[in-house]
Amino acid sequence: MNKKIWLSSPHMGGFEKEFIDEAFETNWIAPLGPNVNGFEEDLQNFLNTDNAAALSSGTAALHLALILLNIKKDDEVLVSSFTFSASVNPIVYQYAVPVLIDSEKDSWNMDPELLENAIKDRLKKGKKPKAIIVVHLYGMPAKMDEIDKIAEKYDIPLIEDAAESLGSRYKGKATGTFGTFGIFSFNGNKIITTSGGGALVSKNKEMIEKARFLATQARDNAPHYQHSHIGYNYRMSNIVAGIGRGQMKILNKRIEQRRKINSIYVQKLGSQNGITFLKEPDSDFFSNYWLTTILIDEKIFGKTLLDIQSTLAEHNIETRPLWKPMHLQPVFKDYPKYINGTSEAFFNTGLCLPSGSNLLPEEQNKIIELILS
Ligand SMILES: *Cc1c(COP(=O)(O)O)cnc(C)c1O
Repeated sequence: MNKKIWLSSPHMGGFEKEFIDEAFETNWIAPLGPNVNGFEEDLQNFLNTDNAAALSSGTAALHLALILLNIKKDDEVLVSSFTFSASVNPIVYQYAVPVLIDSEKDSWNMDPELLENAIKDRLKKGKKPKAIIVVHLYGMPAKMDEIDKIAEKYDIPLIEDAAESLGSRYKGKATGTFGTFGIFSFNGNKIITTSGGGALVSKNKEMIEKARFLATQARDNAPHYQHSHIGYNYRMSNIVAGIGRGQMKILNKRIEQRRKINSIYVQKLGSQNGITFLKEPDSDFFSNYWLTTILIDEKIFGKTLLDIQSTLAEHNIETRPLWKPMHLQPVFKDYPKYINGTSEAFFNTGLCLPSGSNLLPEEQNKIIELILS
């Protein structure tokens, strides 16, 4: 059997172990420590923002964002339907109600028009949504001008799920830094990884300090263990943060590599009838191209999605269908939704291609040849 080609696997840069060794030598194995502070600083510098808290996962970051916005039982939170379940689960952790919003066809992300319709409709029904969670899926920024404007017009706090879009920009500004909060993930298959981890960022320093407090069991400043809030064990460990510091050194290179992989796919498959790519709609959008994604028109292309997937699987190459929209998921299907059919059509016809920064040119050529064969 050939060596497995993964969709997106961890890609170490060589600097990670130095930071971990240092943690061992100084016995900073405890949850917090210099690597956590260093990683937070690296993130702040990269994102050009003042406040970042390193956490145990992207999901934990999103959960804390909702807690900090005081989202409670029966509150409504507008959220992209075309996403991974982790964008929506934390809403339900708070016993709040997700209101699912479908995509537009340019960026594949939350449709601003539907978003505004949904807000108007919720207001008419007597309930003002408490937050908006917009996802930058597959690394592609959402239409942030429009979405920001709507959030401001109706005075609803915006949270960006930038788990997949570290390094992506909209009009030159980093995704994750537009909203009241932005969240990132350093899970194993993201553009950089700490093996597992996340971050919460905000312009609001107090909020991030409070996030750090809540993430370490909400211990009051007292000589004994005293608690006036419910706390969480959501902080990143100093060992894991060492991997993050190493990965931050090569993040720009990883973005370049993913973008190159994307451009080779587009160059070699883009003129094929029946294949369309998720592309930057115009020069306002800069994607990290975390994953290269395609839509197949089976009638025109002459092969089904399943044909392509199984041919590649036979050669030990991993592909993945696009995210199944949340409004089609058994666990979320009964929540309120504003749907135009776009994400369902994407799901029915789309595929993620291997896009890891460690994908070799000969491996990528083989994938392309197999798709064309
Ligand atoms: C990965 C991911 C998350 C969750 O991040 P974890 O660190 O795995 O908890 C959230 N949202 C999206 C869109 C993701 O892809």
